[in-house]
Amino acid sequence: MRNDNREWDEIRKMEMRVGVLKNANGSSFVRMGKTFGVAAVYGPKSLYPKFLQNFDRAILRCFYSMTPFSVMDRKRPGPDRRSTEISKVIKESLYPAVFLENFSRTSIDIFVHIEQADAGTRCVGINAASLALADAGIPMRDLVTACACGVIDGNIALDLTGDEEKITDCDLALACMPRNKQISLLQMDGNIESELVNNIIKMLLNGCDKIYEKQKEALKHKYEVNE
Ligand code: ADP
Repeated sequence: MRNDNREWDEIRKMEMRVGVLKNANGSSFVRMGKTFGVAAVYGPKSLYPKFLQNFDRAILRCFYSMTPFSVMDRKRPGPDRRSTEISKVIKESLYPAVFLENFSRTSIDIFVHIEQADAGTRCVGINAASLALADAGIPMRDLVTACACGVIDGNIALDLTGDEEKITDCDLALACMPRNKQISLLQMDGNIESELVNNIIKMLLNGCDKIYEKQKEALKHKYEVNE
């Protein structure tokens, strides 16, 4: 058993909502266990200075940050190497899903703000950003869904907590478009035996299916409430 009594292939308790910010074109709140954050989408909007424009598609920009009180040791505010990397990773995992070619010369800006971090913030960021894009009405091939897992005492453990992340041999994050299982991010820290990789990916894809259902529920809920 795991220290929070979950099964090895069980995702942490999730909570998802869309339309949480009044002034953004699209927004969402996503919680997975004790990790939660908000995503906001602005755009598509004209892009200045003009030399940044792409004449045949929109540019996608992503800004990931964590509040100083999101972790035990105060996190120094402002950008750092890790937030630059995670911003890039979130953008690239969403890139294949968005019909950027429909919005030439514009930008679509995504802000991901993590309020509390207990492992898996890049996955919460991706899940929240894709929900916020959908909430903004931006056409997409599919939602993008992400989850991570590790290996503890030889067992593959899905959706690690902060405590588990300290003892895992590796940490593997995957993002995909669940409808046709197209993978847009696969990232790993640490070492694992190559025989485990296929089982890990299978478990991650199953995990993504569960998160995908929750994302669709959150989007449907918005329209049920507003009816
Ligand atoms: P992810 O959050 O996607 O798992 P990392 O592997 O870089 O990304 O971080 C793992 C966890 O370490 C974070 O979720 C967070 O709980 C913790 N962490 C990250 N940065 C800091 C920091 N500056 N101070 C304390 N803890 C941090």
